[in-house]
Amino acid sequence: MQDCALDKGLLDEIMDVARVMSADGKPADYIPELALTPPELFALSCAPAGGETVETGDTERFFTMQSISKTLALAFAVEHFGAANVFRHVGMEPSADSFNSLMRIEMTSSKPSNPFMNAGAIAACSLIHTAYRESSAERLFGFFTEITGRDDGFDEKVCASEKRSADRNRALAYFMKSVGLLHGDVESILDFYFKLCSIRCTSGGLAQLGAMFASGGVSPVSGRRLIKRETAHIVVGLMSTCGLYNGSGEFAVRVGLPGKSGVSGGILAVVPGRMGIGVFSPALDAKGNSLAGMKALELLSDRLNLRGF
Ligand code: GLN
Repeated sequence: MQDCALDKGLLDEIMDVARVMSADGKPADYIPELALTPPELFALSCAPAGGETVETGDTERFFTMQSISKTLALAFAVEHFGAANVFRHVGMEPSADSFNSLMRIEMTSSKPSNPFMNAGAIAACSLIHTAYRESSAERLFGFFTEITGRDDGFDEKVCASEKRSADRNRALAYFMKSVGLLHGDVESILDFYFKLCSIRCTSGGLAQLGAMFASGGVSPVSGRRLIKRETAHIVVGLMSTCGLYNGSGEFAVRVGLPGKSGVSGGILAVVPGRMGIGVFSPALDAKGNSLAGMKALELLSDRLNLRGF
């Protein structure tokens, strides 16, 4: 297949085809504030290594990172505490369960399958919170700011809305504590987790985050190394096997790239050595993944010949 050039014309074409998919889904509503997001929004950004970001759609629109921030928590925890220590508390295997499932933990009382399930991310947050207490959120916000070169803060409304409706995450965290899988004050750990999920970003910010992982840990904005190459490999490796929860297999087949989704409708994708991609469209499938976002990545992967496998 002939590779196309990455330009705005190509992204416009992809947007026109992909955004139609939104009609088959709807924005997440278990966090009431997210249900207010207009479902027709769409943004797509590509940050190629050493080049200018190319983008289209509602690229000025802020949304919250939700589960995409789990890549930040994992990278930060591995960098600060070492991989061996982190993976004593959380596994590195995919799971066929939904992202907020309690079932396996209750049945086995063993550590969460991977750091991209809610249980695994809450375990990573607990490690960070044990070390950095009340400064944990600021440190993670600072980490994202260093990557993107901008500070867009976090969305207090979405954070408060999640906190009010977080019965399931609360159940998960208290259960983990009861069987010795979580240590510390559950409410403080969850407050930190909700803040991480509420970090504000744009599709361009996600593309920069992807570019950082694609380069093996160097900020695309400042050129500074922010994480070790081995840390980037761990995050990208887990993105390729677990990044879209129980939709990871389908994503691997259709898109062929490491990805990480969030229930606000964002998807981060990494083309190792080549580029970072951020896409946003709030209508989700039943597994909590953006319908138009997945379609756009599939088309982009085909047109630019990006598949890694
Ligand atoms: N904040 C969300 C939650 O904990 C994140 C889940 C997601 O994006 N899949 O439910």
